[in-house]
Amino acid sequence: MNFEELKLAPAILKAVREQGYETPTAIQEQAIPLILQGNDLLGGAQTGTGKTAAFTLPLLHNLTMRRSAQNKWGGNGIRALVLTPTRELAAQVEESVRNYGKYLQLESTVIFGGVGMNPQIARVKKGVDILVATPGRLLDLQQQGFMDLSQVQMLVLDEADRMLDMGFIHDVKKVLALLPKDKQSLLFSATFSDEIRALAEGLLKNPQSVQV
Ligand code: AMP
Repeated sequence: MNFEELKLAPAILKAVREQGYETPTAIQEQAIPLILQGNDLLGGAQTGTGKTAAFTLPLLHNLTMRRSAQNKWGGNGIRALVLTPTRELAAQVEESVRNYGKYLQLESTVIFGGVGMNPQIARVKKGVDILVATPGRLLDLQQQGFMDLSQVQMLVLDEADRMLDMGFIHDVKKVLALLPKDKQSLLFSATFSDEIRALAEGLLKNPQSVQV
C-alpha cells in the first residue's frame, strides 16, 4: 500500500512526501482508514511503530473537512485535544502536527507543566485548533478559567498505559469529564491492563481495534 491510497487530503500527502516516507507502517495502514471514517479506535502500538502519524494524519484530515469553531475569547476554538504522559512526548507530537499540517490552515500548540503559564494562556486565547497537552497543566489552566474545551471534536489519549503508570488516571478522568460527549476518541497504549480496558470502555463508542 502507498500513502496515496489512504485518501488523505493532497496538502497532507505533500507534507508526508517531504518527510521522505515511502510507505505507511502497519499501524498507519490499519488505523488511518478507520479514523478517516470517523470511528473511535483502540490502538495497540509501541513507540517506534509510526503511531504518531497514524493518528495525526487522519486527525488533520478530519479537522480540515469540518468547520472551525470559535473560543470564548474570539480565537479558534480547540477542536482536537491530544493528551500525553510527558512533556517530551507532548512536544514531539506537536512537532509532528506542525510538520504534517504545514500546508493546512490549522493552529496548534503544546502546553505542559514546569514552565511559565502566561505564554501558554496567551497562546490558547489567541486561538488553537489542535492542542497537545499533559493532563496536569491542562487542568490547572482549565480551573483558572483559561481553557475552553467546549468545541473539542477529536480526542487522542497517547500512551495511555504510561499515563496510568505515572499516576495521572484521576487527572485524565477529570479532563474527559470536561469534554463534549459527542466526539471521536482514539486511545493508544502499548499494553492493556484491566484499568486501561475500563478507561477505554468508558470513553470509546463502538471502537474499532488495531494491534501491531
Ligand atoms: P513514532 O512511533 O510515531 O514515534 O514514530 C517513529 C519514527 O518513525 C519517527 O521518527 C517517524 O518520523 C518515523 N515514521 C513514521 N511513519 C513513517 C513511515 N511511514 N515511513 C518511515 N518512517 C516513518
